Amino acid sequence: MSLFSAVEMAPRDPILGLNEQFNTDVNPNKVNLGVGVYYDDDGKLPLLQCVLRAEKQMMETPKPRGYLPIDGIAAYDQAVRNLVFGAESQPVKSGRVATVQALGGTGGLKIGADLLKRVNPGAKVLISDPSWENHRALFTQAGFPVETYPYYNAARRGLDFDGMLTALQMAPAGTVVVLHACCHNPTGYDITAEQWDQVIAAVKARKLVPFLDMAYQGFGHGIAEDGAVVAKFVASGQNFFVSTSFSKSFSLYGERVGALSVCCQDKDEAGRVLSQLKIMIRTNYSNPPIHGGMVVATVLGTPELRALWEKELGDMRLRIKQMRLALVEKLKAAGVKQDMGFITQQIGMFSYSGLSKDQMVRLRNEFGVYGTDTGRMCVAALNSRNIDYVCQSIAKVI
Ligand code: PMP
Repeated sequence: MSLFSAVEMAPRDPILGLNEQFNTDVNPNKVNLGVGVYYDDDGKLPLLQCVLRAEKQMMETPKPRGYLPIDGIAAYDQAVRNLVFGAESQPVKSGRVATVQALGGTGGLKIGADLLKRVNPGAKVLISDPSWENHRALFTQAGFPVETYPYYNAARRGLDFDGMLTALQMAPAGTVVVLHACCHNPTGYDITAEQWDQVIAAVKARKLVPFLDMAYQGFGHGIAEDGAVVAKFVASGQNFFVSTSFSKSFSLYGERVGALSVCCQDKDEAGRVLSQLKIMIRTNYSNPPIHGGMVVATVLGTPELRALWEKELGDMRLRIKQMRLALVEKLKAAGVKQDMGFITQQIGMFSYSGLSKDQMVRLRNEFGVYGTDTGRMCVAALNSRNIDYVCQSIAKVI
């Protein structure tokens, strides 16, 4: 009899399960569009030049590897605040944003969730329907009941904004609302600036707690454009949370570089919030690792490297846009009759293709083209060599 005799096997992570299946697939033409990772046109994970140059600079003056402070590298936290809020913004200048370095965007979300559970234990959490799968799991694990607000209408192949707004207007005070700041995962549909104004007004009127998840800043329309919603929240005068991920925008997935920022009422409140965030970190992993944070702080803090990063991120954004256009064109050329133009209205790394589960399963089993059962495909994994095959395969299952 073991302590674990009665422990059940947990279900496989759906995306990682897809990866395993992909890896054992012997189809020589196989294409993995299941993952949320940006690949270059050669199908390779990019190593950004700005990152390499920052690392070279770091190697030239090697530093001993002591513990970091609990909240991470001070210059990194400052760089994140400046990026997310603007160096000249009132919240940054007045010192009312508490920012901590975190283990990726996921770490930022979890530290925020743990803090919220302390200050707001009776609340529930609302996530979009659909959302990144880990949102539900993460907030559930943090002890919250998790429900959804409408977001995507499959029949209309677009947003259900009225449904979203109505759900927010009916939510009880204190409800935590997780909002994708840009490049909604998995649908690729973002709400407009005017719709954000309505969401912000509803969240404020109902005294809800907004939690912005910013995992794809720079992949939609540009760094400033994708982050514009933050200034709107600031202007509304509410407290709010922002998690940041640099996994994609710096192609630093495995370094786990992210952050959590909490916009508070004043500097004193930010100090108190920061002290609580530090407890969450201290009791989980004590303090974050150095390397990734130092790379990002170096790039963001060196004008020349920052310009290079913006250029490289811009190139990634542009390539995704080109793949979207090519996808629409080539699907048509492959004989798909229905208008697939909606693919170019979506932004970010993903496209909700509108394909059914049966079609996605056929794509996988008969053609070795892997997307999720919900029809999500990673456009950032398409390239000039696999796109024709993908389009011909899709045409055969539609
Ligand atoms: N939020 C969303 C919406 C995401 O898609 C992801 C990554 N796939 C994350 C957060 C987590 O990012 P990270 O890998 O940096 O933990």
